[in-house]
Amino acid sequence: RHHASVVDEQLPCITADGTTIQLLGNIGIPMEAPEVTKHNLAGVGLFRTEFLFLESTKRPSLAEQVEIYSGVSKSLNNRPLTLRTFDLGSDKLPLFLQSSRAETNSMLALRGLRFSLKEVELLNTQLKAILQVGRTADVRILFPMVIGPDDFSQAIDAVRNATGFVGIQQRPQIGAMIETPAALFALDEILELADFVAIGTNDLTQYMLAVDRDLAEGHDDCTAMHPAVLRAIRWIVKKARTHNCPVCVCGEEASNVDFARLLIGLGIRELSLAPSRAADVRHALRNVDCNEAKKIASLALKCLTTSSVHELCKRF
Ligand code: PEP
Ligand code: MG
Repeated sequence: RHHASVVDEQLPCITADGTTIQLLGNIGIPMEAPEVTKHNLAGVGLFRTEFLFLESTKRPSLAEQVEIYSGVSKSLNNRPLTLRTFDLGSDKLPLFLQSSRAETNSMLALRGLRFSLKEVELLNTQLKAILQVGRTADVRILFPMVIGPDDFSQAIDAVRNATGFVGIQQRPQIGAMIETPAALFALDEILELADFVAIGTNDLTQYMLAVDRDLAEGHDDCTAMHPAVLRAIRWIVKKARTHNCPVCVCGEEASNVDFARLLIGLGIRELSLAPSRAADVRHALRNVDCNEAKKIASLALKCLTTSSVHELCKRF
């Protein structure tokens, strides 16, 4: 098995048959932004902004957020920056909200966009900061845990209102994360509203297979490689094509080389992953043939178990 060399990093991510794959980075703190350029990634596909303020005892101000987001954008040297709005829940609860919003069963409680729609002040301030930075930088807004056109259109309305406040004409692109089973069943309506979508395989796997994403150890069959998740991804790719809507996969599994190759076979052309994993994935994808990957993926879609998908991946 070949290992990615430093040289590989400077090569474009183009498959053996000449298909360009967009590789982007996932980041959680500003310090990670330079890693994105260092590993020759095309931008940030997922900035998990909620981690910035988990230790804060007071709400982050508009000015504070503008400074952080513009700093990140600057260190990307004009590459696109997709900011995901705070993806909070009781597993990720900032100190300044702990007294009012603590709940048990954190994975199935108020979270993601639903949380933000209850904490509108927090959401609105963040949106204003993003829009402010977007005056001079290529930023995109991504909403987490969308469950349908209702919550998503409320989110879009919030952006529209913030746009008026900041006084800009054109709003940035707005995307929805597809990471709940409900979103799969409301895809057409979500795609109607979205400029792009991002598949979050961590949560999509958790909620489809009823397996705690943090307890994956010992649940080898309950990963994003499970055929049900693969079928969901294929479904999203097909639907998104009919709506002409770009799709990115940004769950951690995208940095697993076998899974990344399968994703190409399923029709995915954009991946966002931990920058430190980019070299291996780039190397693997540069050696992939899309037609071959497509054949393997179509067999994987017929599988009924995760282990048979793993078997198939040996053919790469
Ligand atoms: C996901 O759920 O796959 C995802 C990318 O978001 P997070 O891991 O931050 O929940
Ligand atoms: Mg998620």
